[in-house]
Order: sequence, then structure tokens, then C-alpha cells
Amino acid sequence: METASLTLAEFAPRPELVTRTTSIDRPHTPVVDAHSHLGDEFGGGWHRRPVAELLDTLDASGVELLVDLDGGWGEAVLDRRLRKFKEAAPDRFACFGGIDWAAWSDRGDTFPEWAAARLTAQVRRGAQGLKIWKPFGLTVSDSHGRRVPVDDPRLDPVWATAAELGIPVLIHVADPVAFFRPLDAGNERYELLRAYPHWHLGRPGLPRFETVIGELATLVARHPTTTFIGAHVGCYAENLAWVSDLLDRCPNFYVDLAARLDELARQPYTARRFIVRHQDRVLFGTDWPADVAMYGTHYRFLETDDEHFLGPAGHRPGVSWPLTGIRLPGRVLRKVYRTNALRLLATGRRS
Ligand SMILES: [Zn+2]
Repeated sequence: METASLTLAEFAPRPELVTRTTSIDRPHTPVVDAHSHLGDEFGGGWHRRPVAELLDTLDASGVELLVDLDGGWGEAVLDRRLRKFKEAAPDRFACFGGIDWAAWSDRGDTFPEWAAARLTAQVRRGAQGLKIWKPFGLTVSDSHGRRVPVDDPRLDPVWATAAELGIPVLIHVADPVAFFRPLDAGNERYELLRAYPHWHLGRPGLPRFETVIGELATLVARHPTTTFIGAHVGCYAENLAWVSDLLDRCPNFYVDLAARLDELARQPYTARRFIVRHQDRVLFGTDWPADVAMYGTHYRFLETDDEHFLGPAGHRPGVSWPLTGIRLPGRVLRKVYRTNALRLLATGRRS
């Protein structure tokens, strides 16, 4: 369609660069997708589709094991997922449990012990980790209606229980930094936030990004025997020096790469150095619905030095950036794709 004037939302430029295109049919080694969802909101509704179809997709993509983080806030969803996926293919799926924060208002001071007991029950049912969703640190509140900081000492029993059970805690706090900034012409996620206004967090009553991320660092440092996986490159892909420092200080801290390819690809040299330096504590993860082409794009980013290609979100100014591959060495790929995640998931099976 020829058009004289476009809105920003309509502007989706096709790069005219002529560069090499490497197609990667199979990843370097079998892959663990350590950050996926099988429900409707983020997972493409795989929970309603035949497991065999999902297994075909995973086989065609070279994915050996998929971690479903949708165990959510209670046991009902977890049980359904375990029944559907683990029973069909026990070695191909891991499901993480969750915490029902809404129960804090009724349970008052007994909530942390109760939540720790629920976690134990979830692991007995088959959960292999704990997923903490991003409302924690933003809107989760205690029985007095006050925001619960990420490093709130009242929750220490929960983190201690995760350590005792030998399960990892995959934690997502905050969101891209720009979500917390004023929604003005200089906001680098302007177009995305205009499309999804409820994602904008620069509102009165919500903490600043720096507050939440600082609390995450305190939490991780205070619980050295609990394994924390910081989702989305440690929840701060815009500042890999900050994440690197926390990884250096805290051997119990890991990160996944989920939903941040474009953040990494706009700093490809720094991203490559970061992953190589922390190669024993970086996990492959996508946060996209399982799909052959989606996985192929991830492999192309990690394995080739192709330039300026479209990621899963395409290329839209104010939404996402094109990708530049970082061509990781094979020995690093093996760890990031597979062995780091298998090591963390195996500790849970000991209990
Ligand atoms: Zn996710």
C-alpha cells in the first residue's frame, strides 16, 4: 500500500541490506528451553493442543527439554500441566510452581511459612523449580496493603525452602528500563508502550526501576545457598556490566536469555563477552511460543555472525531492534544450550 503519511505503529521497515543469510536447521547441540510457557498468554495455547504436535515441533527444532513456567500461583494449573505434559513425555518437560501472593491478605503473618509449605507440596507433586512473576516487587502487597520489597526478610523461609528442596528459583522482577521512564518522545519503547499502555510502569505508586533491581541484588546476595535464575538476562539486559558484577559476586546467580535477543543484539560485542565470561551460568530460554522458525532465529543469533536480521518480534522502531549474530564458540554453546540447565534441574531430582 502506498501511503503519504504513516503512524509510527504502521512503520515496519524492511532492511534493504544485502547480507549473508545462514539457515540453521539444527542447533549445535540438543537444547533445553529453560524459559517457556505452554498456556495462552505467552505460550501459544499449547496446553489445548495435542502433546504429540508439540513434541513434533520440539523434535524438528532440536529441543530436548522444555521448561514450562506456567505452574503459576497455585497447584491447580500445575497439576493440569504435569498430567498433560509430564505424563505424556516425562523426559521432555519440566514444570515450575508458583506462589499465590493474593493469600497474603488473609493469612497475614503466617503467609511466608504457608507459602514455603505450598512450595514443598508442589515439588512433591513434581514441580522442578519455582517461578516468581514480575508483580513481585511492583504490586504484590502484604496484609497491610503495603508493597512487599523483593528483599523483604519476611520471605526468607520461602527462599530457604527452595534451597533445602534443591530447586532453582526463576525470578523476573521489574521490566525493560524504558517501561519505568516517562512516556515521552525520548522513550526508546514508546511505540510498544503506546500499544500496551498497561505495561508502562512510570506511574505514581510504583517503585523506580533502580529500587526493584537493587532489591534483587540484595536478595540474591543474602541467600547464597538458594539458586536464583534472573529471567531476561538478570532482569537488566540494558546494563550487562551490572549483571556481570552480580554474577561475579554471587555464584548462586544464573541468568536466562529469554525475550532479550534484540537487547543483546544491539550490543553484540558486549553480549558475546558477557556470555563467554559467564558461560557456566547462562541458560538458553525463549519466552516465545514453541515454533520451528522462532527457534531457528535464536540459533542464528547465537551461532552465526549474520548481520541485521529480523528477530521474533520483527523490527519496529520503538518496539524492537534487528539482530546481529554473536557466533559463540561450540564449547560455550553446549553449556548455554544444555548442560547448565540440566545441572540445575538435576539438583531438584535429588530431593
Ligand atoms: Zn516468561
